[in-house]
Amino acid sequence: MDIALIGIGKIAIDQHVPAIAASPDFSLAATVSRHGRVEGVESFTEIAELLAARDDIRVVSLCLPPVPRFEAAAKAIRAGRHVMLEKPPGATLAECHALIKLAKEHKVCLFATWHSREADKVALAKAWLADKRLTSLQVTWKEDVRRWHPGQDWIWEPGGMGVFDPGINALSIVTEILPDDIHLTEATLDVPANRQTPIGAELSFYHPQGARVGAIFDWRQEGEQIWTIEAVTDQGTLTLLDGGARIQIDGVEDAVKDENPLAGEYPRLYARMARLLSTGGIDMDLRPMIHVCDALALGRRNSVAPFIE
Ligand code: NAP
Repeated sequence: MDIALIGIGKIAIDQHVPAIAASPDFSLAATVSRHGRVEGVESFTEIAELLAARDDIRVVSLCLPPVPRFEAAAKAIRAGRHVMLEKPPGATLAECHALIKLAKEHKVCLFATWHSREADKVALAKAWLADKRLTSLQVTWKEDVRRWHPGQDWIWEPGGMGVFDPGINALSIVTEILPDDIHLTEATLDVPANRQTPIGAELSFYHPQGARVGAIFDWRQEGEQIWTIEAVTDQGTLTLLDGGARIQIDGVEDAVKDENPLAGEYPRLYARMARLLSTGGIDMDLRPMIHVCDALALGRRNSVAPFIE
């Protein structure tokens, strides 16, 4: 199937282009971006031009930041195209629900991707936790924003989500591996005095069996980068490390098969999209986004030092 990529920035170049090139299901037939291009691939600067000129391309994959995503997705759906969305699936929950409604009306597939759920050890973590009683779960997601988001002003603007841009990846894993639903009870948000979105956040969640569930997200981390989820249960402790690429049960590491265990995430997302296209339907799990929106609604804001890149 021919596919078009919309928004040729960091993630499109780093992950989507190679994943499509290696995919048995998709072939990159066009791009839409004002500045970015992929060599040898037809390019457009506006999605409307693509939709008008290439009726043969029935699937589009949106790699835009969250704020411009809704307009692009709505145009594609109205034009009868199947749509794959980078995370987060929108800037607001209402937009996401509007897209679901529109996709149903136009009978197209809509897929809200959560790439971190496809990390190598996430499925194993989910299976291990399925029959355990949870005592506590702690997410620690600490990374250096200057290293991972250089020059990306949109992350600091309303709708850019700040530290929740990576934090939502952790929440996508938590909502995948926990057998029980949780919801946010408290949050504190550290917002740089010169920015609109948090650079740090601490969250607490209600858990139906009384387990302590919390998360710390911090973008001010220099040196070692930490993406860890530790779950203590009645039958031992599970630790997911490196964003789900590694797992330890009671300190014993499960073998890592791949040299780059995160390399499978995007190929698996495109394989999922291919399956969705064959069955038809909508795959929009909004739970990670609900937690972020709740944190932004309930969070107590601390004004912290201005962030200058
Ligand atoms: P990026 O490098 O800033 O690229 C986004 C692209 O979208 C830009 O190159 C830009 O291309 C286009 N765009 C269209 N309208 C825009 C607007 N109003 N503001 C800014 N850019 C606009 O961002 P990214 O890191 O690829 O992230 C894109 C999405 O992927 C985000 O939702 C992010 O959460 C997700 N993601 C990122 C990573 C990562 O490691 N970076 C990992 C996983 C997921 P033109 O200017 O050429 O139109």
